[in-house]
Amino acid sequence: MESPVIIHVRKFLDNPGNPAKCYIKKGQIVVNDEAFQFYPEYAKQFILEHEKGHYYQQTFDEVAADEYALRQLALKAPNSLFNAVQSVRMIARSDPRRENELRNKALVIAAENGSLKAREILGLSANAVGEPSPKSNPIQMVIVILVVIAIALLILNWK
Ligand SMILES: [Zn+2]
Repeated sequence: MESPVIIHVRKFLDNPGNPAKCYIKKGQIVVNDEAFQFYPEYAKQFILEHEKGHYYQQTFDEVAADEYALRQLALKAPNSLFNAVQSVRMIARSDPRRENELRNKALVIAAENGSLKAREILGLSANAVGEPSPKSNPIQMVIVILVVIAIALLILNWK
């Protein structure tokens, strides 16, 4: 697949706050300089990789494009995982699901690369889902059996 062409325009008239868009069939990424210029350097990189994610995966899916950008940028610069999450927070303020999805994927990458903190966070959420069933208390079991025997004896004596 050929690399996409990156074109800069001064302003998007239809969507002035959107920093960039991708024409996935044409392989064109159009950057809206007026909005793009205000993002920090790491977010600019993330935005461009996100648009490439739309093109290379031929998808309009925002979460898939975010994940592509994360994979391209992860662990290649200091704070790359944190910065990727921050970038999504900035560009997808109206869709917090995207930030949550990306944070989880960033945590998995951190855990795979030896972050004990990330493992701890993932471990806790794994336990919350797959919690073992509570063990039955043996004393409770004995009491239940005794009560059943007592009731059985009462019923037998009745007749
Ligand atoms: Zn997008």
